[in-house]
Amino acid sequence: MRDGSGVTVIEHGKLVSGTGAEPADDSTVVVKDGRISFAGARDAAPAIGPEATRIDATGRTVMPGLVEAHWHASYFNITVLEDLDIAHPPETVSLHAAFNARLALECGYTSARSAGCLFNTDVALTAAIDADLVVGPRLVPSGQEICGAGGLMDWNPEFRKIGMEGVILVVDGPDQARSAARKLVKNGAHWLKTYPTGDAAAPGTNDHHTLSMTYDEMEAVVQVAHNHRRKVFGHCRATEGIKNALVAGFDSIEHGTFMDSECLDLMLEGNVPCVPALQFEYASVHYGPDFGMAQAVIDGHQETLEAGAESARMIHEAGGVLGMGGDYGFAWNPHGDYAKELSFFTDYVGFSAMDTLVCATRNGAQIMGLDDEVGTLEAGKLADLLVVEGDVLADISILEDRNNLAVVMQNGIVKAGTMAAFTSTVVPAL
Ligand SMILES: [Zn+2]
Repeated sequence: MRDGSGVTVIEHGKLVSGTGAEPADDSTVVVKDGRISFAGARDAAPAIGPEATRIDATGRTVMPGLVEAHWHASYFNITVLEDLDIAHPPETVSLHAAFNARLALECGYTSARSAGCLFNTDVALTAAIDADLVVGPRLVPSGQEICGAGGLMDWNPEFRKIGMEGVILVVDGPDQARSAARKLVKNGAHWLKTYPTGDAAAPGTNDHHTLSMTYDEMEAVVQVAHNHRRKVFGHCRATEGIKNALVAGFDSIEHGTFMDSECLDLMLEGNVPCVPALQFEYASVHYGPDFGMAQAVIDGHQETLEAGAESARMIHEAGGVLGMGGDYGFAWNPHGDYAKELSFFTDYVGFSAMDTLVCATRNGAQIMGLDDEVGTLEAGKLADLLVVEGDVLADISILEDRNNLAVVMQNGIVKAGTMAAFTSTVVPAL
């Protein structure tokens, strides 16, 4: 991804650095050749020459770019779970993914961790974004997802003899789990996504209190991934599944819905982050009926919502690491709604706006392993930042509307926002 050149000064905005520090009401942020050289109170800023590009942020918030910590590029606003899989050819899936990448950036998400993708499209998408062929969040790919046979994501009935792996590699036993993990590593996945548990979306045999993988299968994936310096994460709702994941050495827990004190101790001990992804549950309960969602599924999502919020509060109060994001790409929880997660955490879970922003910026970068480069506005880091109309700390919901983003900057280049110029002025070398 190319860096900006020259000097840009963003003046007079309310600076929310992402570190959790008190905001500076009248701030200056200096960006030089793609990196932040100063971010702080205006009266402490260095003198800047007249050649600099100046952005007036009066009445605006200056903050780090957001991090979507559980993003599915290929989930294209579907209504039926099985359509996450092979409903379109790879060519169409690629176009969907590229569209969603641009949308995410336009929504202020300058980084994202993929949490599973059809046909490994996210591996190609990551390379395309890095090469400036596609505009989107700086991405960490995960490729296809691993699930145990008969588990949550093993939905293609035997008679279809589909004979083709789409979004899921179905494994039966640790040997197959190891093979799947090796295949993903070979194909470019950085985070290997697994399904230790079921979900409310599949009431009956794979609901949110069931397991979708055995401990041995999970451990096999971890051994392969860690050997190759890759990471493992998993869809973990049932208490035993969370525990299995933490004991097996998972690097992050997705959802962490039914946490108990033993889970919490294990999570804190390993400093393992959690991405609850709760807006999805809220949206399922409230908008699911409009899309014909069965009552048993809605009831399960309600239970998941309440337990998930309780677990998130528990982790937060105990000093654990939470990231924001999750599972956008369903008709009732579409791409583009990403920042609703943040409003949900302030309105429903009870987090302060400041804590929520830290989770959505610094913690997200930490989860991605990019906290040396992005996630906070500090000297030396890449200039991934937003200039937002209004005071985000007073009303975090302003982030939900793209029209409130004046600037979405990545590597010092304004790529989206109402002040953006053309984003495709440089044709990348093929
Ligand atoms: Zn997911």
